[in-house]
Amino acid sequence: MADRDGKIWMDGQMVDWRDAKVHVLTHTLHYGCGAFEGLRAYKTADGTTAIFRLHEHTERLFNSTKILRMQLPFSRDEVNQAQRAVVRENRLDACYLRPLAWIGSQKLGVSPKGNQIHLMVAAWAWGAYLGEEGMRRGIRVKTSSYTRHHVNITMTQAKAVSNYTNSILANMEAVDDGYDEALLLDSTGFVSEGAGENVFVVKDGVIYTPDLSAGALNGITRNTVFHIAKDLGLEIVPKRITRDEIYIADEAFFTGTAAEVTPIRELDRIEIGSGSRGPVTEKIQGAFFDIVNGRNAHYAHWLTKV
Ligand code: PMP
Repeated sequence: MADRDGKIWMDGQMVDWRDAKVHVLTHTLHYGCGAFEGLRAYKTADGTTAIFRLHEHTERLFNSTKILRMQLPFSRDEVNQAQRAVVRENRLDACYLRPLAWIGSQKLGVSPKGNQIHLMVAAWAWGAYLGEEGMRRGIRVKTSSYTRHHVNITMTQAKAVSNYTNSILANMEAVDDGYDEALLLDSTGFVSEGAGENVFVVKDGVIYTPDLSAGALNGITRNTVFHIAKDLGLEIVPKRITRDEIYIADEAFFTGTAAEVTPIRELDRIEIGSGSRGPVTEKIQGAFFDIVNGRNAHYAHWLTKV
């Protein structure tokens, strides 16, 4: 990943991809306090490339750094412009963007005081996160033996670097056991989210998703699905969900910037509904791709041209 042509925006400068480096004594590398975002840009219907919900992602980055008491030395506008510039500089159309804020290497010790806060933005082409086949057929998911963070341990509304050790452990366990992805439960046993996705179920025509008190990230794709459901005249209810509610649901799906809208066809080797992509999931998936690809004028304001 490090050895390729292209540019990465680092602290206000475009740096050659291979030279975009940090020191081994970087605070975030040792103690895991940092924040990041994940965005996608799409080639839209009019032939231009646009970043999906750029402003909302930048806002969440600033919220994450606020929660982690990191003062970003850039304005929201500068961060937005940096993201547009990275896509342009690398001549990308459809791509994934990764902004990351980290604490520098001026001093070590748990207290980060006295360190500089840094920001970088990289972008690269990235296809379907859980596979093209998964998008059509649905994926196989395992309930993790790892518990999702309690809301008062690491802050779950921050997209914090440290939260992802939990995600990595859960994902590795699931993949090693032959599944595609992990589903994590909160510390009281209710469904929280996937390792890198929000989760939804469909039962008797109503859509349910865990409310954020289960420790799930306030996903921007999750929010997009709220809008889509409303447009389709479907009721959507955030609530506490048990894993067996997923076993007996008609349909289930994951959402996320990387995962987009991915159907879930099995949980813990139990088939969900017909065991393939359900009709409500398919409709939501279709509406999602219409929006991100610029085929729904109603949501044109969610697409920022690069
Ligand atoms: N939960 C976790 C743990 C994630 O990493 C992600 C991906 N950012 C999501 C949910 C979905 O969030 P979004 O739709 O904003 O990408």
